[in-house]
Amino acid sequence: MPNGGGWRSFLRYDEKQDRPEISWALIRRALAYGRPYIGRIAAMLGLIMVVTLLGLVPPLLVRNLIDQALPERDLQRLTWLALGMLAVPLVNGLLGVAQRYLGSSVGEGIICDLRTELFGHLHRMALRFFTHIKTGELLSRLNNDVIGAQRAVSGTIVDVFTNSVTLVSALVIMLRLEWRLTLLAIAVLPLFLVPARFLGKKLRAVVREQMTLNAEMNAMMDETLNVSGALLVKLFGRAALELDRFRGRADRVRRAGVRQAYMMRWFFLTVSLISAVGTVVVFWGGGWLVLRGSGFTIGTIVAFTAYLGMLYGPLSALTNARMDLATSLVSFERVFEVLDLPPEIEERPGARTLESVGGEVRFSDVSFSYRPGENAAEAAASGLSEVIRFDPRGRGIPPPLSQEGGKLQVADPESLEKVPAAQTPSPERWALRNLSFEIKPGELAALVGPSGAGKTTVTYLLPRLYDPTSGAVSIDGHDLRDLTLSTLAKHIGMVTQETFLFNDTIRANLLYARPDAGPDAIEAACRAANIHDFIAGLPEGYDTIVGNRGYRLSGGEKQRIAIARVILKDPRILVLDEATSSLDSQSEALIQQALERIMRGRTSLVIAHRLSTILAADVILVLEAGRLVEQGTHAELLARGGLYASLYETQFRQGRDETQP
Ligand code: ATP
Repeated sequence: MPNGGGWRSFLRYDEKQDRPEISWALIRRALAYGRPYIGRIAAMLGLIMVVTLLGLVPPLLVRNLIDQALPERDLQRLTWLALGMLAVPLVNGLLGVAQRYLGSSVGEGIICDLRTELFGHLHRMALRFFTHIKTGELLSRLNNDVIGAQRAVSGTIVDVFTNSVTLVSALVIMLRLEWRLTLLAIAVLPLFLVPARFLGKKLRAVVREQMTLNAEMNAMMDETLNVSGALLVKLFGRAALELDRFRGRADRVRRAGVRQAYMMRWFFLTVSLISAVGTVVVFWGGGWLVLRGSGFTIGTIVAFTAYLGMLYGPLSALTNARMDLATSLVSFERVFEVLDLPPEIEERPGARTLESVGGEVRFSDVSFSYRPGENAAEAAASGLSEVIRFDPRGRGIPPPLSQEGGKLQVADPESLEKVPAAQTPSPERWALRNLSFEIKPGELAALVGPSGAGKTTVTYLLPRLYDPTSGAVSIDGHDLRDLTLSTLAKHIGMVTQETFLFNDTIRANLLYARPDAGPDAIEAACRAANIHDFIAGLPEGYDTIVGNRGYRLSGGEKQRIAIARVILKDPRILVLDEATSSLDSQSEALIQQALERIMRGRTSLVIAHRLSTILAADVILVLEAGRLVEQGTHAELLARGGLYASLYETQFRQGRDETQP
């Protein structure tokens, strides 16, 4: 597919510097994902409560042991206390297992929901999205970021709850044990807010940076480790260069990781120092009270110090959880960013489903630009309120992330800034301009024109891979935008030049067109596409795995399988891009025959490269620079002596000389 024009981002992925550390709207939206699991969450929180409260018992047992059982030489009490000390961890351990099970089933459930929603949303995105985005970065959002979001649920929320319960109940017990010491311990509490306040925002920025860098690294792996990328690297001998680029990216990931760990360490250091200050204050205060004679029992002091740990420990953990929450929310935020992208090509409410179509195709004054963002009204309509940004870096080394952090990088050598948003596209930016034509049911229309004239673009508008910027495309008098997407998918079949096959068996690839097709239908389609004999001759026949992107098959074989796939689908309207790549004459003839069979009786729109196609066409549409400059039959157009006549001389006649000596 020609994709010469600059790629542009219509995505808005840059870190807003004024973004609050934790936004309540974001938390609410994230929490909504827990709704289906509310029962399990409640059970889990109940268990946490029981486990935490049980955890508070042992110091009281110790106190009882020291203050009563031992001084009173009460063996029976001693035995019960010992058994109690054994029972608490045992029961707690068992409840912990149940709590862990519930926690992970909620966490994994949410991750699964989020990932599925993201996957579904991405498949609703228009083709434009996929021509702009780096697949690796998308995969990163589907994997790493979703996992980050899960961590927030199953880790952080559990932590916050456990520690809050521990903290409050420890405080209550401490107040009952010795209120004066408790007040001293509380005096230190505000200090715990200091490190989180200073480091939280910074840490969140580092985590976001880490995710962006990871996504970039993934994108690079994806681009260079797929068959086509790997082939290109080999053919141009760029392995060393790619390794260097990769090392650079991996190194940035490493540095961000180290920076995060380093910041976390500082955070822990300050929090544990504050805990130590608190403990010292309590010991000093307690000692002072003892010295003044207003003492308490040894058991109380021992128990109090144990509870002190239960106050400062959870408090440090809570400060930490606040940071964790902030960083985990980055994941939610990044996932929501993708979920919030408008799909661009959507079904209207009340869109019609057509069970059958006659096959009349009409283009009415259609203009199309691949850059709708240049049109302010359209940008607003597509819900992109933000200024559309570009990444002017292309494949170069990104500038420091302090400026670029968080942006989902979409390479584009051209910058939108060059084109003010409200400006109408300049003439050369229109891929199609005021195109009007009609193809009657069952007719064959051949598209011809110089390279870049807009032929492929025309074929993209028919299955609604893009919508016209102005004008309308219709089938049987229905504007495509008024029909359901499934109607279009059902009645329009497309064979592109580049054949994509899933890395599965030939049968599975064929069934993709019609999952309920039986073996006979599959075989008939393959016979019609002249590929059955080849498949039958393979050791594993229809169960042969085609390899990554079908690389184990020749170009001609792949094309014939693609044709069989469309025959199986049996659409009323056919869109074809005849292969330009030179196949040997036998393969060419097999494909030609197959195409003639498939076009028979269907409305066909064909980007014609073969003489036989244009000779057979009911109408030839001649495009030049996005405009329809001529249309008619071969004889009519030849007689006009215009662009078609010269194209015929330069491109097609040669074919005639070869095929019809
Ligand atoms: P060819 O015969 O070389 O395949 P074509 O007639 O099919 O060419 P199109 O692919 O329709 O031409 O392209 C028409 C114009 O639109 C070209 O100028 C091309 O650079 C531009 N174009 C194509 N795809 C995109 C895209 N995804 N984004 C931006 N511009 C594009």
